[in-house]
Amino acid sequence: MADDHENPAADPLNAQTPLALRQPLIDPFGRAITYLRVSVTDRCDFRCVYCMAEDQHFLPKKDILSLEELDRLCTAFVERGVRRLRLTGGEPLVRRNVMALFRSLSRHLRNGVLDELTLTTNGSQLARHAAELADCGVERINVSVDTLDPVKFKAITRWGDLAKVRAGIDAARAAGLKVKINAVALRGVNEDEFDDLIRFAHADGMDLTLIETMPLGEIGADRTDQYLPLSTVRAQLAERWTLEPLAYKTGGPARYVRVAETGGKLGFITPLTHNFCEGCNRVRVTCTGTLYMCLGQEDAADLRAPLRASEADAMLHGAIDEAIARKPKGHDFIIDRDHRKPAVGRTMSVTGG
Ligand code: SAM
Repeated sequence: MADDHENPAADPLNAQTPLALRQPLIDPFGRAITYLRVSVTDRCDFRCVYCMAEDQHFLPKKDILSLEELDRLCTAFVERGVRRLRLTGGEPLVRRNVMALFRSLSRHLRNGVLDELTLTTNGSQLARHAAELADCGVERINVSVDTLDPVKFKAITRWGDLAKVRAGIDAARAAGLKVKINAVALRGVNEDEFDDLIRFAHADGMDLTLIETMPLGEIGADRTDQYLPLSTVRAQLAERWTLEPLAYKTGGPARYVRVAETGGKLGFITPLTHNFCEGCNRVRVTCTGTLYMCLGQEDAADLRAPLRASEADAMLHGAIDEAIARKPKGHDFIIDRDHRKPAVGRTMSVTGG
């Protein structure tokens, strides 16, 4: 890697120069973009039935941004006022040497220009990375666990091993990371398990968030069969648990209640039954440098070309500005028998969940 002191961005994984903050990103609806989710790989070691087809095709390596390019891209957003950065995927921890990216991005935490560096993971590789994540300044992580039944877990993830994931969660907690469990609500699959998931998460001081399935990508299955409205789930849970609404927000789309019996927090992400776009503060970048201004819309901007065209960041910032000026008001997900096609063609593993 070139030693170019004129342009620290040329070697971003070693860059130490403090950032000069630029014009913040404000979209046409006056929403400040302060949160970036970055899919660092489209690959995953699971094949969750609602997320990917079993024979999912992955992107050629040449199309994927290098770790240095990902760092440069994230840093450009941090310069523009992004305060929270979440690495996701695919499965972020299967990307080779991904810890080098965490390590380099952690400089923004130390420099005070970033409030949070975090990750969404399936937990399969967490046991070996937890301590280093904590050392990089990661404080809380999301781990996806849809069921506590090992056989069902295998059926949902096709390739996953629940014992490994639970060991990963234990390692994360032992390393001092705050863990939130995410579970997608699936009709006829885990709808009888929410009580157990609440007890499991809250017994160890972990928050739990339930997520509605979103119509993203062709997965070779009918989503009307999987879709379970969380309005129904919440009403049923309220028959057994005391759910006290909380003002608490993490800056994300989840709405939280406290479960009085456990003292723990329970979140609901309801893109279908309740549109959460109003306060949207986020954009997403894929591992190929495609910027999606909305999870549920097709419009996107290519940031890889301006990134690769020049070592300076002027073109990149120009492309980011143009894209944010087009951020739509919101998505309009619908799942019913008349809407069998996904809202967008790409799966969550491409855009980054
Ligand atoms: N591999 C990591 C993981 O498992 O958390 C990060 C990527 S994964 C795509 C992020 C989250 O998106 C997971 O919690 C997953 O369950 C969720 N997800 C994937 N496809 C979804 C869909 N169609 N609707 C709702 N959630 C989905």
